[in-house]
Amino acid sequence: MKVRILGCSGGIGGRHLRTTSLLVDHDVLIDAGTGVGDLTLAELTQIDHVFLTHSHLDHICSIPFLVDTAGGMRSRPLMVHALPETLATLTEHIFNWQVWPDFTVIPSPTQPFMSYVPLKVGESVTIGARTFTALPANHTVPAIGYALSSPSGAALAFTGDTSTNDAFWPIINRMRDLRYLIIETAFCNRERALAEVSKHLCPSMLAEELARLEREPEIFITHLKPGEIELTMQEIEDDAGEFNPRMLQNGQVFEI
Ligand SMILES: [Zn+2]
Ligand SMILES: [Zn+2]
Repeated sequence: MKVRILGCSGGIGGRHLRTTSLLVDHDVLIDAGTGVGDLTLAELTQIDHVFLTHSHLDHICSIPFLVDTAGGMRSRPLMVHALPETLATLTEHIFNWQVWPDFTVIPSPTQPFMSYVPLKVGESVTIGARTFTALPANHTVPAIGYALSSPSGAALAFTGDTSTNDAFWPIINRMRDLRYLIIETAFCNRERALAEVSKHLCPSMLAEELARLEREPEIFITHLKPGEIELTMQEIEDDAGEFNPRMLQNGQVFEI
């Protein structure tokens, strides 16, 4: 499977900063941040599944436009996979007829443009030859990460938004062929208190987390805050350089 980064920033601005979204082959999204808006209409209509990490706006904001734009050109609903709490938030706060119409009943409840699929931590969904497994995360709202694995067992793990997380590492360490780990670092070290209260990571916390890793995947950093990118990457080099973490780039492609 091919994974293309559509967005990996903590914010927007200019040509390169887009919020979180990963396109798997041509038909699956992991999160639907602002990067989805760069896809062509033809690409948008091919998306059959969206796996969400959590309900925060930077990860879901393109779903309303995606479903409204592509829904009428498709014969199947867009399947939105997420924790039940995340789906409840979408129902209550986005697709509530006030912010946006409820596309789970449009144009009809039996053939809607969008359907919800509840997902539990630890649960796997297989689509074709690709398996998507919900990983535990530790954020201010119910949240998960994802492991993407191919039939050979080659895997890419994505933390989503998370702070330090005891439950994550034993699962990661059991993955025999973990090729890539995409992990967030939303703040620089002087904002450690903010990272703790908003349940993200800063470089010193990242270093403590990576010390628990027993595999040797290539490590990529996501969700850097615009305006602090260079500083945060320098601090990551200082605090966790032994793990050779690199900044995730918009447009980057992984193959597993
Ligand atoms: Zn978040
Ligand atoms: Zn976020």
